[in-house]
Amino acid sequence: MNRLLQIIALIVAAAAVVSAMSAELAGNPLLQPQTLRWRSSVVRIAVSTSITAQNSNIKADADVMAALERSIAAWEAVSGLEFRIESSDRQNVSPSGTAGDGVNLVTIAPTQENLQLFASDPFGESAKTRVFYNRRGTITEADIVLNPLQQFSTDGTYGTFDLETTLSHEIGHLIGLKHSPISGSIMAEHIPRNGDVYFGPRLPIEGDVAAVRDLYGIDSDICCGVVMGRLTASGKTKGVTIWAEDTQGRVVAQTEANADGSYRLGGLSDAKYQIFWQRRDPSGTSTGDLGSVTIENGAIATLSKRINADLADIVVEDVGLGLHPGDSAILVRPGRQYTICLAGHGLADAVTSVTFSSKSIHSEIASLSRQDLGRKADAVSLSISLDPDTPPGVYTLYATRRDGTRAAAVGAVLVSK
Ligand SMILES: [Zn+2]
Repeated sequence: MNRLLQIIALIVAAAAVVSAMSAELAGNPLLQPQTLRWRSSVVRIAVSTSITAQNSNIKADADVMAALERSIAAWEAVSGLEFRIESSDRQNVSPSGTAGDGVNLVTIAPTQENLQLFASDPFGESAKTRVFYNRRGTITEADIVLNPLQQFSTDGTYGTFDLETTLSHEIGHLIGLKHSPISGSIMAEHIPRNGDVYFGPRLPIEGDVAAVRDLYGIDSDICCGVVMGRLTASGKTKGVTIWAEDTQGRVVAQTEANADGSYRLGGLSDAKYQIFWQRRDPSGTSTGDLGSVTIENGAIATLSKRINADLADIVVEDVGLGLHPGDSAILVRPGRQYTICLAGHGLADAVTSVTFSSKSIHSEIASLSRQDLGRKADAVSLSISLDPDTPPGVYTLYATRRDGTRAAAVGAVLVSK
């Protein structure tokens, strides 16, 4: 390969790991987006002929309707909503405003209106959902636009977006979910294009299910307990991530604290949980434990604490398989070994251990080595292994420094079946 080709190959490789999915809200801006929901139990979805007809964006042999039906079924099962799919020859997203045309359209048509949605980052984002709602916080319409400049597939084709994963994320927005701070969540802001290994479409994780149960208040024997409380700190509490792990270490609920430090983790099944918090900004991290709670009979548990939000000089910004750090979760399988890398700052000279919220995931600390990844100058790599019986789910990674300070990559390890 000559030098120019090498550079082009590098640029293409870099582009392949960057991605985004997004939601935008049209309507009354005073409402908290997370409180938006459908009030009727039946939601009609109109699938544009731009999606079902042969088109150059979706790999020819992809079963588009099957992918859409599976992504809908995953949310139907946990929201209590019933979706009815119909065909439509409409092509355009409704223009932003207080209300749309009342049709919940899924489209990929390369029209001016649809392309406009991606004007700020035409080749970055995979899709966008425009949600309309009224003053009562009732969703009145949501239109999903797959970016007409992107490629989609259902077979893991390298460099394309997985169609079902993309639709699952956007339907999450359509039913009222916002982005999750957990990188293994289907509602994570960034879900990358397909890479070397394809594990199949991504699904809602436990934490996504809890968020939907909390939003729609499904009556069920096993649901829905709540952990709530208030953090107090000398510094800011807004934006502090709070998450619950079950006794296996799986992240099962997540949220962000409000400006007054209050938080709420809803939709929890009866079980024992450990609750954690983390404040992170580009200059450092502060993290800790809020304590443990046991939810019984769907009750409300309260857990409030004064936290030390002083930032330690360590940040895990990205994790990745091999030497490819990214802002999405790493996908791994039980019984396997991997080399992983962490990038951020305060890592290369100071990290002395890397641990996981699961006892079934082990790191070989002797393999910990400093990496020079160019722009991501501060990075380390190490080998990890998963026991064959590691339960599927999303786990947290911790990097700990010599001085005992540490940073979590919350839900950054996604263990598939
Ligand atoms: Zn999104």
